[in-house]
Amino acid sequence: MPSILQVALDTPLHRLFDYRLPDGLGTVQPGSLVEVPFGRARQVGVVLARQTDSAIGTDKLRDVIRVFDDRPALSPDILRLAQFCADYYHFPLGAILLATLPPRLKNASPFAADTPWLVVTAAGRATEPPARARAQRTLLDALRTAPLGRETVRAHRQSRHAAALVLAGWAQWARLPPPPAERPQTASAPPATAEQQAALDTLLPSFGQFAVHLIHGVTGSGKTELYLRLIDAVLGKQKQALVLIPEIALTPQLEQHFRNRFPGRRINTLHSGLAEGARTENWLTAPDCDVLLGTRLSVFAPLPRLGLIVVDEEHDGSFKQQDGLRYSARDVAIARAKQSKVPVVLGSATPSLESYAQALSGRYRLLELAQRAVSQAQLPAIELVDLKHIPLDNGLTRPALQMLADTLARGEQSLVFLNRRGYAPALYCPSCAWVSPCPRCSARLVLHRTSHRLKCHHCGFETRIPAECPNCGNPDLKPLGQGTQRLEETLAALLPAARIRRIDRDSMRPRAWAELGEAVHGGEVDVLVGTQMLAKGHDFPNMTLALILDTDGALYSPDFRATERLFAQLMQVAGRAGRADKPGRVLIQTAFPDHPLFRYLQRHDYAGYARVLLAEREQLDLPPFTRQVLVRAEAPTMDAALAFLHRAAMLAPDHPQVSVFGATPAPMARVANLERAQLLVQSASRSALQAFVRDWRPQFDNIRPRVVRWSLDVDPLVF
Ligand code: ADP
Ligand code: ZN
Ligand code: ZN
Repeated sequence: MPSILQVALDTPLHRLFDYRLPDGLGTVQPGSLVEVPFGRARQVGVVLARQTDSAIGTDKLRDVIRVFDDRPALSPDILRLAQFCADYYHFPLGAILLATLPPRLKNASPFAADTPWLVVTAAGRATEPPARARAQRTLLDALRTAPLGRETVRAHRQSRHAAALVLAGWAQWARLPPPPAERPQTASAPPATAEQQAALDTLLPSFGQFAVHLIHGVTGSGKTELYLRLIDAVLGKQKQALVLIPEIALTPQLEQHFRNRFPGRRINTLHSGLAEGARTENWLTAPDCDVLLGTRLSVFAPLPRLGLIVVDEEHDGSFKQQDGLRYSARDVAIARAKQSKVPVVLGSATPSLESYAQALSGRYRLLELAQRAVSQAQLPAIELVDLKHIPLDNGLTRPALQMLADTLARGEQSLVFLNRRGYAPALYCPSCAWVSPCPRCSARLVLHRTSHRLKCHHCGFETRIPAECPNCGNPDLKPLGQGTQRLEETLAALLPAARIRRIDRDSMRPRAWAELGEAVHGGEVDVLVGTQMLAKGHDFPNMTLALILDTDGALYSPDFRATERLFAQLMQVAGRAGRADKPGRVLIQTAFPDHPLFRYLQRHDYAGYARVLLAEREQLDLPPFTRQVLVRAEAPTMDAALAFLHRAAMLAPDHPQVSVFGATPAPMARVANLERAQLLVQSASRSALQAFVRDWRPQFDNIRPRVVRWSLDVDPLVF
């Protein structure tokens, strides 16, 4: 009887593929990884089932080339989670399964399964290397906390020191990381605040079953501390915790915090800052770790003893993937928690309106931390500078500059927030009004003076700064508006005594965060200039002023989520000011000081503003009161993109609870030489919308557009 495998492959097709399993290739089970011929190439696929027959006819089937015995099979819970995503996001199962794997595992070339671990020996634990050998000492100290994989050792240029430790008998290379040597002991934790204790008393008894808890805690209220206590309880039951964090390079600090708190525990990280090898290694060893700390893709990591999922900063847009499988890691985390019957804790100072509405309706349990954990730490006073009356000079008003100078004179630190990187948002010709267009997008090229380039932040196009206007030849081109680089320059000229540092994607290598954090803590920085990157997670006691420039664009944006996002951002930035015993101040420059957003911001009233926004959304039939699916199409011409969507709309099944809106050009109509159009479908009922799309999507395959690329975005965040 022939053995036939049903295999999921990374293709855009919504189907599985049958292959014959020749004898002697090894054992297979659902989830096993195999190599198969596909067209004229070979692919890595995931076995979903084994059967004795095929609809295709057994003699027409091709043979499996190889069963990988160097890679673990995907576990049933991961297969189930991927199936959930395939159904909910209407995306091919095979593409999802392959996307969840770390890069090396989906590569058909042999994979080094013997990745050894460097572990400390008993002798290494007992000894102290000579004080001269500092690097060896540091490495040995690290090994006493946790074993290190070869990739990590190599990435940190520690191979030489590792060899020295092995030679001395203080460390050895082992096949698998051994279990932690000493009985894990918890590093001293501060006594819980009354609010933290109340939250723990509510949360802990309900653990061991599925529930979604939303922790709404003001910045500095000790949410992280609360997570640590919850995790501690879960680890005590020999279970694992998955902690999802936004896609930003704050992981090193958080990782360190976790390691200090849980010495002897195995803490794995997964994020884009890791080298490929380290990522593969941390994924492969995830089943044995105690805590997995990672960004959105970690939601698919193998965790057989999962006991708790935490989603920190749950409102953060980076939990939503913006290409391929456009999933929300937060929502998938909730689905996973439900499937695994474990609690999920969402935390934020400014929850997404989606989550908050669920909490108000009682479907999620809401826990409030209203006070800062350090009792003297007060919430900052928020003041507005009215740009209608006070003029700007290089993007700054006089009161703002005065406050910066005063803060500097007191020896305290300031933060200046401007959400635009680069030197200036565009280069401008005063004589003909040419404004540096991107040749490939409906966007402006951003001036980057340090690298002497004009860059498109949408498609990556770059060019030299022209010596004269390409349109009229005028040699006197001017920067238009302010970016963080220019602001840094302006501040340096106005405050010559200040030590200024800039944070944005141009200035920050992932590893530079820790160094910058130390510099700020050590008092080596007076003014931090930056984009929203600086709004996150840092705790600087001496930072007493936050200055916020030019946020007005978001107040009257056509994007209905713009005010929600701006409010969250401003709350986060404001939360950076005055965290310790010094009172903080926040100054916002705006031409619209009467906008309601500021009134609620000044009162630090998230709940109040959330209710205002929710009332607006309800009235306008917008999420979270409706569910949306966006069909995106891109093509060389707008006509082709629109024609595809018109055709799709015509094929839409009739459904009384679902509205299909007209096809329109996307707000950014052109990116990288492709015209983009979209079609919105919405319904008050999630299940109605899901049923509708399930019927509708297969029709798309009949349109067979040759030049159009299309995708479905379920619960779209950006339009
Ligand atoms: P959040 O994540 O809510 O912004 P953190 O957990 O970072 O807040 O806590 C803010 C500050 O308060 C940190 O310096 C933290 O060490 C401190 N903190 C948290 N909980 C306590 C507590 N129970 N007692 C004393 N300090 C605390
Ligand atoms: Zn010109
Ligand atoms: Zn471009």
